[in-house]
Amino acid sequence: MPRKPGRKIESGERFGRVTVLGPAARKYHLQCVCDCGHRFSTRWYNLLRSMTTQCIICSRKPKKDFVGGRFGKWTVVKYLGQSRWKCRCDCGTERVKKTCKIGDSKSCLRCAKPTVDEVRLNVIRAAISAGIPQTNVARVLKISDQRVSQILAGPLRVFN
Ligand SMILES: [Zn+2]
Ligand SMILES: [Zn+2]
Repeated sequence: MPRKPGRKIESGERFGRVTVLGPAARKYHLQCVCDCGHRFSTRWYNLLRSMTTQCIICSRKPKKDFVGGRFGKWTVVKYLGQSRWKCRCDCGTERVKKTCKIGDSKSCLRCAKPTVDEVRLNVIRAAISAGIPQTNVARVLKISDQRVSQILAGPLRVFN
């Protein structure tokens, strides 16, 4: 293995997500494998200088940067490489999503369960559209008239 300048790199050494397999055919290059399984060769000094810490596939930037984007309750936190994004629901639940899956759900499964008011809202809407007076609906649901108005005024969830 090349040794100058810097130091000798041993097979099996790790640099970020990269594991060194051994010398490569090309001069000053080392055979490496990324944690994603992609094999490639890189100049040994790129490893020592931390210029290569993952393979080209993992470091490839997506066409669109979703970081910071809001999809319902999801916030895209970080790009993980290979079209994978770390997303966090407002409740704190984290999920890794593929680019194509971003925005496919408005929240994590736990948050996707309708709240009591959301269930009520559906009932109220259905009742009102059926011609039942709001006061009667309130009585049936055992809530105040005012509460019914509040629920109707919503939105209870912000899906932007
Ligand atoms: Zn990789
Ligand atoms: Zn959640």
